Amino acid sequence: MKKVIIIGGGAAGLGAAYKVRRAAAAGADVDCVVIEKDDRLGGKLATDILRDAEGCEYVVDGGSDAFVSGKPAIARIARMVGIADEMVPAREENKKTLIVKGRRLVEMPDGIMMFAPTKLVPLATTSLYSWSAKFRMALDWFLPRKSVWAEGETAQDHDETLESFVVRRMGRESLDRLAEPLVGGVHASDPGEMSLAATFPNFLEMEQQFGSVIRGFLNERKKREEMRRKYPPKPGAKPWAFFNTFHRGMQRLTDGMADAVGRERITTGVRVTSLERSGDRWRVSLSDGQALEADAVIVATEGWAAAELACGVDAEVAGLLASIPYSSSATVPMAFRAEDCPSDLKWFGILSPMVEKRPLLAVTLSSSKWPDRAPEGRVLLRGFVGGPRNQHLLEKSDAELIETVRAQIVDLLKMDPDAQPVFASVYRWNRGMPQYTLGHLDRVDEIEHRSTRIPGFAVAGGAYRGVGVPNCIESGERAVTKVLADLGIVLEEDTAAAPGRRTH
Ligand SMILES: Cc1cc2nc3c(=O)[nH]c(=O)nc-3n(C[C@H](O)[C@H](O)[C@H](O)COP(=O)(O)OP(=O)(O)OC[C@H]3O[C@@H](n4cnc5c(N)ncnc54)[C@H](O)[C@@H]3O)c2cc1C
Repeated sequence: MKKVIIIGGGAAGLGAAYKVRRAAAAGADVDCVVIEKDDRLGGKLATDILRDAEGCEYVVDGGSDAFVSGKPAIARIARMVGIADEMVPAREENKKTLIVKGRRLVEMPDGIMMFAPTKLVPLATTSLYSWSAKFRMALDWFLPRKSVWAEGETAQDHDETLESFVVRRMGRESLDRLAEPLVGGVHASDPGEMSLAATFPNFLEMEQQFGSVIRGFLNERKKREEMRRKYPPKPGAKPWAFFNTFHRGMQRLTDGMADAVGRERITTGVRVTSLERSGDRWRVSLSDGQALEADAVIVATEGWAAAELACGVDAEVAGLLASIPYSSSATVPMAFRAEDCPSDLKWFGILSPMVEKRPLLAVTLSSSKWPDRAPEGRVLLRGFVGGPRNQHLLEKSDAELIETVRAQIVDLLKMDPDAQPVFASVYRWNRGMPQYTLGHLDRVDEIEHRSTRIPGFAVAGGAYRGVGVPNCIESGERAVTKVLADLGIVLEEDTAAAPGRRTH
């Protein structure tokens, strides 16, 4: 029997392990083990059920808190592992995003798609932008394309930073007030460095196809409205929402996959310290002194951790992996008594643009966005700090971080300045978010190209072709396809639907 060792027990590693187990169930002579260095499985999916001093219970996601409907990998896995009925849509009735402007919170104008306005009246009446900025944004309709792509060229051939693109099409204020916190914020990235081809290639494609981002998004809006008319929700079906989660938090997904893989195949609290190829076998050394042997290895760790392990395998791959930068961040969940908060609590989140220079990137109002996150009479919020331009904040102690976020929340929500949370905690994501900088896809192509020449070796995870949890799962699955093919095992699942190369 062939054996695959999977290093890393996050979404990518467990997605890979679950695919190996499906292959085994379908008759392939293969099995796997997963080695995770932390005591907890899930990586950036980390849910805790916490209680305050009065015994009130909260479902707290310290890392990822949502997945988007448009990417089917999670729903597919949830159905297979039997947790589909635990998927919960966001409460669309509270779907509102607020943006910090000075000491005010301004509602994101209706019709904004990503950062492009698609409705005239809300754009004209919003106080988010100055009049000159509104006119500048409208200019996008008339500005020519930057270049006309040759036949067969893609966004990757015309990569550009988020900052360069948005400023060129819609002006600086559009970037500073919305595109930076909304689009850059998802990746905790500096818009001046962030590769559009690797993150949102559709912006570049829209410019090519429609000659304007606004025209591109208007077309997308029309298509969505047509789909909704054509396929109205079935009676009794769960309402559709852009964002979804699981009833008991996002970690339910990785826990569900771990159960399906079989916990006996998973070791936690042990780090892989080195990888070595000898003959056609792999030798995997562990921090507890043991060494394991395998026919294939999948390195589903952060890029920098993969670089350390790849050193003994291929120095160039290791160098390329090490060149993917990471930023650190922290989430700081805290709950208040409802009576301490102002009355309007029907919104999903607050974005704090970098130009506001606040020590806060965003706030999620978890108890409004999701059902069952906090009991009646309690308000659960989640502050998000760090990102490339605020790394110094992460040197603060937990108590200082909690106070920083508390002070921001009471200021923004006009609460009593002395209002204290009934509980607060800190989740630190040290070097947790890969930064897809200009040319990222070329680097990933090179890593994958070189890896094809290393039999029984593949990397997987958020460092490569999408940081979203569904992308990570698919990345793990692609890695399995690669290493099993190296071992002469071709999966029926893959011949039925060959996985695409790009999965943004
Ligand atoms: C704060 C935050 C919020 C996010 N929010 C969202 C969101 O709402 N929606 C969304 O889709 N995405 C979100 N993301 C992104 C998404 O959660 C991640 O990209 C994804 O979970 C990464 O999965 P992964 O398996 O690639 O890596 P990880 O989850 O990082 O897993 C890698 C694992 O490898 C382990 N490891 C490393 N080195 C070794 C070693 N030598 N030996 C053994 N184990 C090792 C690590 O301990 C870790 O558990 C968020 C990310 C962060 C940080």
